[in-house]
Amino acid sequence: MKTHARVVVIGGGALGAGLLYFLTKEGWDDVVLVEKGELTSGSTWHAAGLVPHFIGGLSMAKLHHVGSELYKNLEQETGQATGWHGCGAIRLALNDDEVDWFHHVKGMLDYLDIECHLIGQEEIRQLHPLLIVDDVKMGFYTPTDGHTDPASSTHAMAVGARLGGAEIYRHTQVLDTRLLGSGEWEVVTDKGSIICEHVVNAGGSFAKQVGEWVGLDLPIVNMEHHYLVTENLPEVEALDHEPPVVRDPRASCYYRQEQQGILIGPYEKQGAQAWGLNGVDWSFDMELLSPALERLENSLQHAGERIPCWSDAGIKRVVNGPITHTPDGGFLLGPAAGLRNYWLCCGASIGITQGPGCGKYLAQWMVHGQTEINVRDMDPRRYGKWASGDYAVAKSIDEYQQMYQPYLPGEYREVGRPTRVTALYDDLKQKGAIYGDSFGWERPKFFAPKALNENYGFRRTNVFNIIGEECRAVRESVGIADLSSFAKYEVRGPDAQRLLERVCANRLPRRDGDVVLSQMLTRLGGIECEATVTRFTAEHYYLLSGAVAELHDFDWLVQHVIPGEDLAITNVTDDYGVLVLAGPKSRDVLSGLSDTDLTNEGGFTWLRAKEIKVAGIPVRALRISYVGELGWELHCKMDALSILHGAVISAGKAYNIRHFGTYALNALRMEKGYKAWGSELTTEISLVEADMRRFIREEGSYIGAAVVQRKKKDGVPLHLVYCQVEADDADPMGNEPVYDGDNIIGITTSGAYGHCVKKSLMFAYVSSGFQSAGTSFEVEILGKRRKAIVLAEPAWDPGNTRLKA
Ligand SMILES: Cc1cc2nc3c(=O)[nH]c(=O)nc-3n(C[C@H](O)[C@H](O)[C@H](O)COP(=O)(O)OP(=O)(O)OC[C@H]3O[C@@H](n4cnc5c(N)ncnc54)[C@H](O)[C@@H]3O)c2cc1C
Repeated sequence: MKTHARVVVIGGGALGAGLLYFLTKEGWDDVVLVEKGELTSGSTWHAAGLVPHFIGGLSMAKLHHVGSELYKNLEQETGQATGWHGCGAIRLALNDDEVDWFHHVKGMLDYLDIECHLIGQEEIRQLHPLLIVDDVKMGFYTPTDGHTDPASSTHAMAVGARLGGAEIYRHTQVLDTRLLGSGEWEVVTDKGSIICEHVVNAGGSFAKQVGEWVGLDLPIVNMEHHYLVTENLPEVEALDHEPPVVRDPRASCYYRQEQQGILIGPYEKQGAQAWGLNGVDWSFDMELLSPALERLENSLQHAGERIPCWSDAGIKRVVNGPITHTPDGGFLLGPAAGLRNYWLCCGASIGITQGPGCGKYLAQWMVHGQTEINVRDMDPRRYGKWASGDYAVAKSIDEYQQMYQPYLPGEYREVGRPTRVTALYDDLKQKGAIYGDSFGWERPKFFAPKALNENYGFRRTNVFNIIGEECRAVRESVGIADLSSFAKYEVRGPDAQRLLERVCANRLPRRDGDVVLSQMLTRLGGIECEATVTRFTAEHYYLLSGAVAELHDFDWLVQHVIPGEDLAITNVTDDYGVLVLAGPKSRDVLSGLSDTDLTNEGGFTWLRAKEIKVAGIPVRALRISYVGELGWELHCKMDALSILHGAVISAGKAYNIRHFGTYALNALRMEKGYKAWGSELTTEISLVEADMRRFIREEGSYIGAAVVQRKKKDGVPLHLVYCQVEADDADPMGNEPVYDGDNIIGITTSGAYGHCVKKSLMFAYVSSGFQSAGTSFEVEILGKRRKAIVLAEPAWDPGNTRLKA
């Protein structure tokens, strides 16, 4: 066994082997994998092997595609068969929401050039003669889907990795991982230690325990999952082709042919069981769990109605094994917060599908510092401490049970909530706040005048007019929002400025009290973070990021401190509450509560910050506005938030002050043409593609500068455009394909209806030649093509006169 390696991967399942394979493809050959049993002996060996393309997100669809492509072709490269069956797959839609969802996903797959068809009952019957589909509204057919033999495929990736120089140590248990003074890691095994630069936790069902060695509390929960295989069936034997895999939301089951029988895998909608919550015995290896068929009754009954020949079939094999789940059903891929060169590659609930893609993109991340896809929804730093313990268990169980139900736009399932609330939570609830959650924080989506059930969906819903009223209140008078969920950091010390100059692409605020928006870039120029930077003194900066970026951005800052630099970075998110006060009357409201001169003439201009008193409460008042109006963000100690809020509401009564939520916030920022981190601004592109050249500083060096300057000079093939759309009952929401005639030329990133400008609006990335103002093309929303025109300027207040009023 080697004593030194560049990378040690802990765990030889589909994810660990996938990563090892792709690390060698990225050119790192000094890489080893350590497995306590045989390869695949955790969850991988007994999986059903399905590899679907149908998935809700664009990046995830790209990642899934890596799996099917690799399994199809790996035998040629390695000589090791993978057991790939390219039989295709059909997902069934049983209601209108699912039909909308299918249209949305089809748009995404069309953009990625992954073959898919929306088909009717007759075509479904032709492809799968054993199905009863009278209740089916639509089928989503992906002919390039299939299933693979998980063990053979994992071994094939291992063979490929070995051919690329990797080494694999089987029957070697990792006992500990220790950070050495040198910054390297010591991976302690029962056969000796390996010192390495990077360590990867791909421990599957054991990943949580492996993470505990370094102080991580990963939100991973093992769920019991069954499938059953029938004896040979004459109806299957009579088929002249292998029918596609089927996913059936009614039974919450998948079905596929297995030899001459049928394999059925139910995700029970009730009574699903978590397993190993107090830890998994390290000796668990090549084992299954005891079947609990009584839990599956409901699903299996529906399955029998879907495939009648299955009802009387004899069952030849029952498999019940552990699957890792996380609160949102996604895996953990990327750096572990607070630990240098400690990576996570675990938590996958469909890991056979995702192993190769996880491997490919994590390898890119480790080797180049950036992936070619937007990994925001995969990054482990999307979870904070709030996501562990009971929350993780409750959410993971729910996620498992809802596996085959669509997560509709606007839907934030109640399970496990609330975890993080501000001092105003109850008060605003009384006032009609309907909450959603982000990074654990409860945030009002909108305020319902009276008890109202929001009809979630892909089209405009029954809260459309309420959003309009909230938007108009902000634009016409004054609105208030509790946005205490903003991530907030103090950066203090003699070297604070040096750090920020190194990570920020924009120039830093020059004077005390100046506020600047800046992106932070990877060394390949991709947009990694976006922060509002306020300078209180040259040695004291106050940074704000979006709620979901709290741990991510904090980690980015901390990881970029050079040893010896004299500064402290503190996450003060929980310490400060934030009220956003916005609208033409906001100054009138505030001036009744403060002695500070709030006028432009008095020096409180746009992009200035002051520590002032409001209703006697010390407040950091920042004159910035994401909604594009005169306004202030009022940051006060969290325990003073209630009093501050009460005072502002009292003073605002004369101006009909109105609460607004995140739906209105999104609509208002779209009217102003403000881009959002994670949708428009991602690591996939730089500030040049994002049309944000004015945020690129010319002087001094910073991370990513060389790439950005080169792109500025040479030009880029992709451009962010801001458009108005001829929509009617559904607005763009992101991930819709953009067409010029029959050619796809781009993809939307986000959108909303602008209630005050009375226009449906969207951002999209389009190819060169389509970015000029006035250019028109079409965007496909839920299966219908809509005309879109590139706008030259924001739909609202293009001259910033209201903002600067
Ligand atoms: C019944 C069933 C059916 C499934 N069907 C499908 C399907 O059709 N399609 C699909 O995509 N997914 C399916 N899955 C899910 C899939 O099996 C898992 O998501 C996948 O196997 C996870 O792979 P992994 O590499 O993360 O974990 P594992 O395969 O569990 O690998 C982790 C490895 O790490 C090793 N390890 C842990 N700790 C240590 C240590 N300290 N030292 C050394 N080694 C260590 C373990 O021994 C293990 O081999 C199914 C799961 C089940 C239970």
